Amino acid sequence: MTIPTEPIGSIPRPAELLEALAEGDAGRIAAAREKAISETIGRLEALGSPVVTDGEQSKPSFVTYPIAGLDTLAPDGAVIPFADGHQRQLPVLTGGPFRYAQNAVDYLNEAQRVANTPVKQAVIAPSALSLLYPAAGIAGYSPEEFRADLVAGAVADIRACLDAGAHTVQLDFTEGRLSLKLDPSGGLLDQFVALNNEVLDHFTAEERVRIGVHTCPGGDQDSTHSLDVDYAGLLPALFRQHAGAFYVQLASEPDPDRVLQIIAAHLPDDARVFIGVTDPIDPVVETPEQVRDRVLRAAEYLPVDRLGTCDDCGFAPFADDTSTSRDLAFAKIEARLAGTRLAAEALGV
Ligand SMILES: [Zn+2]
Repeated sequence: MTIPTEPIGSIPRPAELLEALAEGDAGRIAAAREKAISETIGRLEALGSPVVTDGEQSKPSFVTYPIAGLDTLAPDGAVIPFADGHQRQLPVLTGGPFRYAQNAVDYLNEAQRVANTPVKQAVIAPSALSLLYPAAGIAGYSPEEFRADLVAGAVADIRACLDAGAHTVQLDFTEGRLSLKLDPSGGLLDQFVALNNEVLDHFTAEERVRIGVHTCPGGDQDSTHSLDVDYAGLLPALFRQHAGAFYVQLASEPDPDRVLQIIAAHLPDDARVFIGVTDPIDPVVETPEQVRDRVLRAAEYLPVDRLGTCDDCGFAPFADDTSTSRDLAFAKIEARLAGTRLAAEALGV
C-alpha cells in the first residue's frame, strides 16, 4: 500500500498554445492543444504520477468551461476580488433555459486517448455556476427553473465522467471559502452546500467514493481571494457535502496543526482527505523532506488509511495566467510525489 497522491487539475499552458489562443485560429488552437495535452500527461507519467490530468489545457478556466460560447450571457456578473487588487468577473445569465455548452467528459476522453495511467477529471461545482443567475431575476425564467436546469446539467457533467471511467471526479469548490467573505453569517455557504448535495445525492454511495470536493482560497496570478477567511468557518460545512474525497489546501496555511485538528473532528467516517503539501503560489520549490514532514504531521491527527496528498490548488486555473511556469509546476509535483513516497516509507504503509 502507498499513500494516494493526485494533482488538482490545471498546469500552465505552453506558450505555443497561448499564442494560438490569442490569434484565434481554430486549426492552430486544436493542434497546439493536442500537443499540450500529450506533453502534459507524458511529463506527469514520466515523474511517476499514479493519477494524471490533462492539465486543463482545453479549459478557458476551471469555472467558465460549461458556459463558453453561450449566447444568453452578459459580461457584468459576480466579481471575484483577489488580495493583490486584481479581479475576475463572471458573466451573468440573461435568459433561460440554462444548458451546459460544454461537458468535462470531452476533455476526459481526449486525455484518456494518450494516457497510460488513470485520469482524474475536475468539474466546476454547481454552487459556483449558481452565481450566474442575477439577483434581480430573469423575466420568464424563475430561480427555481434555473436551479432545476443547473442540477440536471451538473449531474450529467459528473455522471458522464464516471461512466467514461474517470479515476475520480473532483468538484472545484473555491467559492466555498470566498462565500464567507461575501456573507460572514454563513448563509450563502449553507446554500452552496445544500445545492451541491442536491447534485451529489443523485449518485450512489459506491459512485460517491469516486467523487471529491476541492477547497482552496483561490489561485490566480500568484494571489488568493480568501486566504484571510478563517478555515474554522468553512471546514465543518465543507465536510457536510456527500462526497467520498476532499482535496484541502493546507501547505499555505499559517497554522496547519489547528487546521488538521478541525479536519480530524469533521471528516466523515467514510471519506478520504487529500491534504495540500505544495503551494502553487509560492515560487520556492518544496523539498521532498518538507513534503514528507507535512504528511507525517497530518498522520498525527488523521488515520493514514484515509489520508492522501495533493497540491494546494491548480497551477493555472485561468488559461491566461502565466505567473507560474510549467517547469516550476512540474518541479513542485515531483517534490509532492517524492515526499509522499518518503512519508509512506516512514509510516510503513
Ligand atoms: Zn483550487
